[in-house]
Amino acid sequence: MEAINIVWFKKDLRLADHAPLYHAVQAGLPVLLMYCFEPSQTQHPSYSERHSWYAYHSIADMQQHLKPFGITIYLSQLEFTQVLETLLPHYQVHTVFAHRETAMLHTRQRNEAVAAFCSLNGITFQEFPATGVLPASQVDPPNWLQQWKTAIHAPIYTLNLGKITTPDLPKHIVQQFLPPTLPSLIGKSNKQFKPDKAWQKPGETNAHELLTNFILHKASNGYQKKRGLPHESATASSRLSAPLAFGNITIKQIYWQLKQLKLDSTNQHDLTIFKQQLLARDYALQMFEMNPQIEQQNLNYAVNGIRLKWNEALFEAFIQSKTGFPLVDAAMLCLQKTGFINHRLRALLASFVAHHLWLDWRKAAAPIAKLLVDFEPGIFYWNLQNLSSCTGLYPLNILLPAKEAKRIDKNGLFIKQWLPQFKLIPGALCGHPALLSDLEQQMYHFKPGKDYPLPIVNIAETELHAQTQLERIYQKPIAVKETAKLTAAILPLPAALQTRQKALGSKS
Ligand SMILES: Cc1cc2nc3c(=O)[nH]c(=O)nc-3n(C[C@H](O)[C@H](O)[C@H](O)COP(=O)(O)OP(=O)(O)OC[C@H]3O[C@@H](n4cnc5c(N)ncnc54)[C@H](O)[C@@H]3O)c2cc1C
Repeated sequence: MEAINIVWFKKDLRLADHAPLYHAVQAGLPVLLMYCFEPSQTQHPSYSERHSWYAYHSIADMQQHLKPFGITIYLSQLEFTQVLETLLPHYQVHTVFAHRETAMLHTRQRNEAVAAFCSLNGITFQEFPATGVLPASQVDPPNWLQQWKTAIHAPIYTLNLGKITTPDLPKHIVQQFLPPTLPSLIGKSNKQFKPDKAWQKPGETNAHELLTNFILHKASNGYQKKRGLPHESATASSRLSAPLAFGNITIKQIYWQLKQLKLDSTNQHDLTIFKQQLLARDYALQMFEMNPQIEQQNLNYAVNGIRLKWNEALFEAFIQSKTGFPLVDAAMLCLQKTGFINHRLRALLASFVAHHLWLDWRKAAAPIAKLLVDFEPGIFYWNLQNLSSCTGLYPLNILLPAKEAKRIDKNGLFIKQWLPQFKLIPGALCGHPALLSDLEQQMYHFKPGKDYPLPIVNIAETELHAQTQLERIYQKPIAVKETAKLTAAILPLPAALQTRQKALGSKS
């Protein structure tokens, strides 16, 4: 029986700086490259066809680079353990090389199943940490920043693709993997999902183009300011979140590239802000790695007794972009149509659901997550909990849709882009249509309740309610004690992030 090793690709869809691939090739045996669209993952409520679409195209990009060497990444719709079962009668699988992702419970359970299967079948399962995030047991909290810097400045894994030798799998085995086609992954009759030119191009090649373009051009063109503005951010922000979430590029590679490209002083300030975002990313991931329970539980148990009733009608209006709050609805429409909104809008949506609709983030999480192409559980849950005031670690910050519109969309460009019925309305009034007088409604052919829904909640009342409830809870001695305990126990926030986190949800 031929002995082989396997590189199991997951959310690490790149060929460069790939520790498992590098070490598998070094090991000398023929290497089978494998990616599985596993039902245990694709059927999770936070997963959607947009994630399959992004993964599929990322792999297609890798296949292009491997093609000249006659190498293929095999695809399957089986669980990875079933793929191993299919292979074992024909090959002696020596080692499975893979990255260890910072993941949700269902993914960690899948990884445990793979580890157990390997151990039972005499296969070595060798996992490598993703750059910048350490297994919880290896973190030295006071020195985490130093540990992170060491990790991201470590040498990049470079590999001559011509050195990869792969086993040539017979057709009857490949067929058993149930290799998917793109239409089978995204659903042929899926009317909701129509990626067009506005969608971010997936893949490693695109990630590097995006990065170079960002460093050389966008960073000196008002990045810091524009990333916060909804209308501008789609093109002015780095847009590296999806490539990072799918592992098309690593933070190590980004830092290396920042060093390589000659930079003038004009973009140094914005690049510093950019580097802070990258640090915030890995901080959030490290927090999740150390506190994976935040996927399911409030970090601060003091708030466990709130938001116990679910109101499906309110949540449905939110998902259908029919809240009657233009910036909230425009954000949801943009997210539905493009898979992306900027940080400020994500914060607004999270705050709106938690504070104004008074709904539990746990039930709201998956329907929002499945819309984000760049869904990254560690970042997502950490931000969601903070914005819902379920950690107690940052000052209460209830975002008000009309006030936010005035601040970040003062000319109404974003609202008009997604809600054409606002076309004639002066920009300053777009975020607050209730202010339109009868005469103005006639002038602008805009009738609230007819052309656009009336607000589903009274925002002054919901703000007061949320503020009163949360202040009451967090002032209780038991909550003060728990918050102090958490503050002392969690990973210290690096100084570079402290000012931006203080105003979490307001001035990031
Ligand atoms: C409720 C909520 C949910 C979020 N969910 C996700 C998610 O699932 N996936 C995700 O990648 N980001 C998430 N973010 C963070 C942030 O909104 C996005 O990373 C950012 O908008 C992506 O745009 P960009 O790539 O142009 O980022 P830039 O603003 O150019 O930043 C560069 C990179 O830094 C990281 N980053 C930026 N902001 C943050 C932040 N606040 N926390 C941690 N890392 C950050 C991202 O990797 C990003 O690509 C969330 C924020 C909020 C408030």
